[in-house]
Amino acid sequence: MSAATPYPHLLAPLDLGFVRLRNRVVMGSMHTGLEDRLWDFGKLAAYYRERARGGVGLIITGGFAPNREGWLLPMGSSLTSSLQVPAHRRLTQAVQREGGRILLQILHAGRYGYHPLVVSASSIKSPISWFSPRELSERGILRTIAAFVRCAKLAQAAGYDGVEIMGSEGYLLNQFLCPRTNQREDRWGGDLGNRMRLPLEIVRRIRRAVGERFIISYRLSLLDLVEGGNTWEDVRVVARALETAGIDLLNSGIGWHESRVPTIVTSVPRAAFAEVSARLRRELRVPVIASNRINTPEVAEQLLAQGHADMVSMARPLLADPQFVQKAAAGRAESINTCIACNQACLDHAFANRRASCLVNPRAAFETELRYRKARIPKRIAVIGAGPAGLSAACVAAERGHRVTLFEAASEIGGQFNLAKRVPGKEEFHETLRYFAVRLDELGVDLRLNRRIERGELQGQYDEVIVATGIRPRTLQLPGIGHAKVLGYLDVLRGAPVGEKVALIGAGGIGFDVASYLLAERDGPQPLGEWLGQWGIDLDNSTPGGLIPPTEAQPRRQLWLLQRKAGQPGAGLGRTSGWVHRAHLKHHGVRLLGGVEYLCIDDQGLHLRIDGQQQCLAVDNVVICAGQEPLLELQPTQPAENLRHHVIGGARMARELDAKRAIREGAELAARL
Ligand code: NAP
Ligand code: SF4
Repeated sequence: MSAATPYPHLLAPLDLGFVRLRNRVVMGSMHTGLEDRLWDFGKLAAYYRERARGGVGLIITGGFAPNREGWLLPMGSSLTSSLQVPAHRRLTQAVQREGGRILLQILHAGRYGYHPLVVSASSIKSPISWFSPRELSERGILRTIAAFVRCAKLAQAAGYDGVEIMGSEGYLLNQFLCPRTNQREDRWGGDLGNRMRLPLEIVRRIRRAVGERFIISYRLSLLDLVEGGNTWEDVRVVARALETAGIDLLNSGIGWHESRVPTIVTSVPRAAFAEVSARLRRELRVPVIASNRINTPEVAEQLLAQGHADMVSMARPLLADPQFVQKAAAGRAESINTCIACNQACLDHAFANRRASCLVNPRAAFETELRYRKARIPKRIAVIGAGPAGLSAACVAAERGHRVTLFEAASEIGGQFNLAKRVPGKEEFHETLRYFAVRLDELGVDLRLNRRIERGELQGQYDEVIVATGIRPRTLQLPGIGHAKVLGYLDVLRGAPVGEKVALIGAGGIGFDVASYLLAERDGPQPLGEWLGQWGIDLDNSTPGGLIPPTEAQPRRQLWLLQRKAGQPGAGLGRTSGWVHRAHLKHHGVRLLGGVEYLCIDDQGLHLRIDGQQQCLAVDNVVICAGQEPLLELQPTQPAENLRHHVIGGARMARELDAKRAIREGAELAARL
């Protein structure tokens, strides 16, 4: 352990007896979509290689099914035949040549599979899938065990350092473990001894088949966060039995995919569940891996130093920055591109069957396609606007060797990020701003703040001009729009006084954000205890699944969140985070109304019509969150100008703009110039 580093525990090797891991950082399993087709394995190898080169100790692949019934998707990722082994060898070699270790995750989706062949412990459909599972017969169970063993042996043949058996998040083995999904009356169901028979049998049989010098990690659900889940006593018994059966590592799983409790989105306090891993660690001899919302070396180091875990799992943070470990080791933690737990480009893509990437790092899983090659001829490049699109373009252009000047009319960089960071539960945006500030400095970008550029001003001075001036809020044509009680969302997020009864016109991402802002009691992240209470989480897991009645909210304001479209507001929010925002507002009594026709605003309030009924919301303020329009001032007008003018982000198209598109557009353009 080196005393010179601020992260001595994080960077300390871990000796498993037959193999030594170079540090305590595990890149947790994350399905990118590249796993599903063997012809994408070149891209997958490049993705893993970059993370191994960046110093990660142990990489765990996305999930691979051991048989067809275990597929996540029809023809989805699997390892079932020796014909697939050469492709997998590309992955193992890519990682091991960089000094890393890699485990194949064996994932049987059980009733979470999105296809008609799904099986489970009992024939009970999951609330989040379309297909009813077939109950596995005794013979089916034995064949499933054999499939897991075959998969592990194939992984060994492909050069993996071991396997991780996915037993959490509500997948098949979790389905066998919990009474919620296991209502069998044979030797695979009933009491805990029977319910855990399948996972234990799988571990024992794999151990026998692969020998002692092959890592077996088991990802166990420590807190199911669903009704009919297990209690702490059950978890403890299962973990000890797994240890006896021959595992080398125990990884922490928190919550099922169908849980109605958030476990990884940005509003979950950092390391919120580490205490549960710590409790298990005291019960076991094998190393325990902590996971969920660990996104900085400081948090990881603290958990390890406090003895909460032996290793830390970070999946998304390593999408965001493949050099996370290297930068921490070099004392450059401030240049880490921190994962903001938004899920917008990773999990939201994975659940929509699109290739996962990262909002703050669009190269993630596109390493062979989005390359930042050194420019052959360095150019003088002006970037106008230091919002997400402009920052991204400026950094990539400078990284490639261009001489970049970045103009910003405001007194700080960040554009819309400066608003996002004020929204409760979105404090992680501070990290993105810190990253960009450090990066501009490292790369020698000439940053000119408080500098508004007029049309034609830069003509002839630069080889390329990138216009990233962003958006302006949409103005509405509505009688009374000029009334004193009407505010724009920018005014509100910048601190304008707001009354106790408020109607918000527009229920997109910003409407939801402004509502959360108006409900918040304080600046800064929600304290862990309060957050646990709001969502009804019992970290002691003394009740089945660790669920208790949520605390009642005492909202400080009465809010109405409105949209013209029929249906419940919030349907267009992120797939894996939208439900959290909706549940948060409902918990605070916010009225979410669709199908609204706005009539006028006056001293009485907001007059509107819903279902043909006219009514007046007697509100103190009406906040307009009705989307944006591009800022067109600097758009090129002459064809000649066009050649060297590039318009990106919201300035190009405000519709469906988000930071993901802005950052990607900036990076893609700068990679081409
Ligand atoms: P948005 O998502 O396009 O929502 C605009 C809202 O305004 C809609 O509810 C729309 O609903 C309403 N609206 C549009 N034109 C209107 C008009 N003329 N009169 C009255 N209402 C009107 O835009 P946004 O909320 O400003 O968000 C901008 C971008 O940032 C979006 O891409 C969003 O996804 C992203 N963002 C995401 C998050 C997140 O949590 N993931 C958070 C913040 C922002 P109706 O047309 O039905 O009335
Ligand atoms: Fe993290 Fe968001 Fe990137 Fe996913 S998309 S890795 S949550 S920053």
